[in-house]
Amino acid sequence: MLTRVFSSDDPQAPTLAAELIRQGQLVAIPTETVYGLGADGLNEEAVAKIFEAKGRPQDNPLILHIWDASQMALFCHDIPKAAYALAQAFWPGPLTMVLPARDLVPRRTTAGLSTVAVRCPDSFVTREIIRLAGVPIAAPSANVSGKPSTTTAQHVLHDHDGRIAAIVDGGPCRVGVESTIVDLTEDRPRLLRPGGITPEQLIALLGDLVVDKAVTAQIDKDAVVKAPGMKYRHYAPSEPVTIVAGSREKAAAYIHRHFTAGDRVLCFQEELPLYEDCSPLAYGREADVNTLSAGLFAALRELDDPTIHQVYARCPEGGGVAYAVQNRLKKAAAFHIVNAEEET
Ligand code: AMP
Ligand code: MG
Repeated sequence: MLTRVFSSDDPQAPTLAAELIRQGQLVAIPTETVYGLGADGLNEEAVAKIFEAKGRPQDNPLILHIWDASQMALFCHDIPKAAYALAQAFWPGPLTMVLPARDLVPRRTTAGLSTVAVRCPDSFVTREIIRLAGVPIAAPSANVSGKPSTTTAQHVLHDHDGRIAAIVDGGPCRVGVESTIVDLTEDRPRLLRPGGITPEQLIALLGDLVVDKAVTAQIDKDAVVKAPGMKYRHYAPSEPVTIVAGSREKAAAYIHRHFTAGDRVLCFQEELPLYEDCSPLAYGREADVNTLSAGLFAALRELDDPTIHQVYARCPEGGGVAYAVQNRLKKAAAFHIVNAEEET
């Protein structure tokens, strides 16, 4: 199959992409978070192609992308007031809500769950594609399962060239990590995945938030969890990753003591001079966490190289968007973290 690449600037792109979606084909779509691998979310056969192309476990549900908040009620029922308040505040934007699913949503899309995840993305071209297709687009991140997410059209081509109908190239993703997911089906709102909408923003609006244990710890693959996707090894390059916590100086000293040929260092731009002899790769500036979230997956993909033995990574501290960066990097490291203040 020839994979067509449409520029999001091409006025024909939304119509052409929408037509392919209506035909049950796979189209990679740009969003502000990461590129999604999209299909008609109401068409079981089309949705099955997503799982096949990604090698995605069957129990890992997809997010339904809608073009406008008013569509939420078409696919969800018993929608609490909080969902409308969140949609008003943060849509279009990097927030996904889990709500009870209506029967027309195929169980293949929800991986058998009675709930469905919905999001209205902040990408004009993608919302146009959804509107013109006349169906919600089910789309997980476009990476091959287990690998770092795709934040450019080139990443998607690398993983799926010749295996999907088209890619809409909207340039690099602004946020760079997947959407924040909030479950609104229980008494208390529950954070299933941190992202560009921060826990602080959610608490300010909801007054309450439970953080699911899958956010903060490694989950056993046989465990029953609220967000099935969180238990799989994720975002990971092929070699082991170790996060080195602690002050800039202590971390550099630790890494220099342990670094051997074939290792790499993933650090902040401000730290590059400290690692001149350690093959460093910067993923953004510590002083601007948005550059770290935007650059993380491209860096992890560059480090996905079988000739590398081990990666030592520096991770931002604190809340806000840094919380999402910590979550992705800790998962890439399978929660392997050393504290340079204590370790030698
Ligand atoms: P991805 O788009 O690749 O980031 O994957 C979608 C994420 O949304 C996965 O981690 C899923 O576990 C999560 N998700 C989708 N639908 C649901 C749902 N109904 N309940 C809980 N989590 C969901
Ligand atoms: Mg994903």
